[in-house]
Amino acid sequence: MAKKTGRKKPSRKTLVKKLDKIVSLYIRLRDEVCVVCGTNEKLTNGHLFSRYSYSTRWDISEDGNCHTQCWGCNYRHEYDPYPYTNWFIEKFGKERWDEVHRNFKGSKRYSNSQLQELYDEIKELHDQLYESKKYQF
Ligand SMILES: [Zn+2]
Repeated sequence: MAKKTGRKKPSRKTLVKKLDKIVSLYIRLRDEVCVVCGTNEKLTNGHLFSRYSYSTRWDISEDGNCHTQCWGCNYRHEYDPYPYTNWFIEKFGKERWDEVHRNFKGSKRYSNSQLQELYDEIKELHDQLYESKKYQF
């Protein structure tokens, strides 16, 4: 094994965890309330299609795979995806829903440095959004 020099690189597991966290913070900051029921309590980052697929796990576009859901709605989505799916289709259309699904089924592979880049990108967007919203509250 090559001798490590300088700063220790984070493991893949750490990078995935960091990404999940920053995406969740970003999504909740963006939406502010549960998109399904409108509550602002116990909010989480909900995935239209399972976060199992890396292709759409950190999709932060507004008409993408991630939106704010309260814990209850997020949990219900597991066995009844209709309410969240219906909200999405009403808002963005069936075509876009199909497209997100295609992305979800596509196989996207990230190298560790790509994961780090994605993290840096989303962190930057998060910080900008945070700055722009901080005087609202
Ligand atoms: Zn809800």
